[in-house]
Formats: sequence, structure tokens, C-alpha cells
Amino acid sequence: MNTFKANTFKKSIIHMGEMASGAKLTVPVYSFEVEPTDQGASFENKVPNVYIQANMHGAEVQGNAVIFQLLELLKNCDIQSNITLVPYANPVACNHKNGEYTLGRFDPITGVNWNRMYHFDEMVIAPFAERNIDASDAEIQAKFQELLLAQIEQKLDHNIWGLTTGQRIAYQLQRMAHQADLVLDLHTGPIASKHLYCPEYAKASASYFDIPHTLLIPNDFGGAMDESTFCPWWSLQEAYQKLGRNFVMGKGIFAKESFTVELGSQEQIDLAVAHQDALSILSYLQYKGVIAQKNDNSTPLQNGQSNGYFPQEMTRYACYLDDYKALYSPMGGMVDYLAEFGKPLPGEPLARILRMDNYGDGDPLHNVCLDRTVIPILHFASASVNQGTELYKVFCNYFEL
Ligand SMILES: [Zn+2]
Repeated sequence: MNTFKANTFKKSIIHMGEMASGAKLTVPVYSFEVEPTDQGASFENKVPNVYIQANMHGAEVQGNAVIFQLLELLKNCDIQSNITLVPYANPVACNHKNGEYTLGRFDPITGVNWNRMYHFDEMVIAPFAERNIDASDAEIQAKFQELLLAQIEQKLDHNIWGLTTGQRIAYQLQRMAHQADLVLDLHTGPIASKHLYCPEYAKASASYFDIPHTLLIPNDFGGAMDESTFCPWWSLQEAYQKLGRNFVMGKGIFAKESFTVELGSQEQIDLAVAHQDALSILSYLQYKGVIAQKNDNSTPLQNGQSNGYFPQEMTRYACYLDDYKALYSPMGGMVDYLAEFGKPLPGEPLARILRMDNYGDGDPLHNVCLDRTVIPILHFASASVNQGTELYKVFCNYFEL
């Protein structure tokens, strides 16, 4: 079936806060809104709504280019549900320059990571499940979403003690994310390969992204956007299970998925790569029914046209979050990063550290090795490191998806 739903494209602006001079911090919001036509459709057939944001961390700019390419490609897609796209999600971080670099990973005033300020209050989960133990699926879905949104409204609008700059930004983004079923938070590593943070129950979806490395993450809330979107639902499903009512996470009213998509390295815009990443996201969205597959076989395909968006064939490696290890520098020095990303590295040195102060009367070169085969995913952005700097992050105990 190939039903085309009329959609409207909208641009709006949200006010994230104010600088000392009174200058307003604004963020553009682009959305495709679809007329609701499926009155009474069951949750099994409900097309999920989508929320995508980029650049919560200041230097991680490539997601903005991916949103640009997505907007361009979506013009020609049959969109079946609401899609909201937010580039420059954090205008403070985005503008936080120091010399030729963008800082923007931490709020410069509080030192808190910008992506650790989202809200989730686990205390509301069990009482909600008890109050609504006999409610219909539709009621649970509607009331729980209402509860999540009410908590955010409470924080934003009815809080005499105010909010930190970062909380005000995070909660306004979260208000949009809570209205979606699928959430993609576009980030990058420092110098990194593409990788995906994926909740364990959504593992099947990871293979629809053209991303060769997936981290499977548990139901633990540490303040990040992806967790703040799936943890409430995952916890609610567990609370119902304790009361003897079983739902499957990822299905029906619990068909919620949220990913942090790490697009490569920071401080880079590459529109060609962004186009590839937009295709990868469309492959996932088509799999979820958000865009209809053009499957009218009577029309021969033109050169360069495809009848839809499908994942590329590739070896996809995964590991559990506990097996995603940081390797800290054993010494200060100047680092020659040797290990290639994405390939299993058995025993060879990951890096060598140059110590010119030791030349002539000591050892000027020190190899950094591990005693097991790992897949290097990212490394520190600078060649000069202190003892204890996080040099590499690697997959251990990895497996194929
Ligand atoms: Zn980030």
C-alpha cells in the first residue's frame, strides 16, 4: 500500500535563553507535520513521530550538515508522520570559541557536560503503573506522555528557583523529544569513527544505519538526551512487569527508540559525508514506516534513482557499554596515534609517545599496547597529552551484529 499523506513544512524559532547583554539565544526548528488521517488505528500500525537534533556539544557540528541533507532529501519523500529537526540545538556551546577551536562540551560556568542535564524522575514510574494498572494501552500511552510533558512544563514554567542555562536549553529540547517516538541526537567524537549508542532492546534497528559500530546501552539514566527519552518508557514497562502486566519494550505503546548517533570527528563539516549519513537515517526511517517506500514497480528506475532507502551491506560490530573501555595515557608526552579505527587490532601498539626530554639518556619513545584484541573507536583530539588523558576508546569483547 502506498498512501501519501499531505504534510506541511514549517519553520519556527525557539528562545533558549538570554545573554548578559540581553541578546536572545534562538534556535531554528524545522518540522514536517502530517494530517492525522488514521483515526482509530491500532498502536501496531501507528507510524512513529520523529525528533532529530544536532550540535548539543559545540564542536560537534557535522549533525547540522546532516540535517541540511535530510531536509533536502525529505522534500522528495512520502512522509507518513511528524518529523521535527533542530540544528544548533545548543547556541551557547555552538558559539563557545577559544582561539581557533570550539570548546562547547561543558557549560563554562558550571563545568557540567551539556548532554547530562536532561530530566528523568524515576520516582514517578511505579506510582503511575499502580494507578493505571487496568488502563487501556491507549490510555497508558497518552497519560504517561502527558506526565512526562507536565514534568518538563513544571520545571520550565512553574519553578520559583529558576534553572541553570543548560537545564533551560535541555528541557526545551526534551519537550519536543517527548512528543516523538523515535529520537536521534546527532553528535561526533573528538577524532572518531562513526558509532551508534543504541538501547539494548532496539538492537535490531542498529543494522538499518550505515554505521559499523554499535554500543548497546542498558536502562541507566545519566542525564543524556537518548536516555532521557527511552529510560522512562523502559522503566514503565519494567514497573508493569512487576505488577504482572507484560508489555514488550520496543513494541506497541512501548515502540520508543532513541539513539545517540556519533557521526565521526568534531570541528568538521563534510557535505558529501553528510549526504551519506542522511541516506543512512532515511534507511532507518523507511524501516520504521516514517517515509513510505516507493514500491511502484511499474515505473522503471531512472539512473541514480532508487525506489527507497536501504542499509548498505557492511560488517557491523557491537559491544556492551561495560566493554567500551577508555585507555588513559600512562605518561605525559607527544602522541603518535597509530591504530586505525574500526578494525580489530590484535596486540599491536595503539600509539607511541614521544618524550624528547629522555633523548640521549633515557627512552624517547614509549609504545602503548593492550594485551587483547580491541576495536579502536576514537582518540583524543590533540597530540600533546598529560599523564591520565583519555587516549583512546575501544570496543572489547565485541561481536558481529
Ligand atoms: Zn557529543
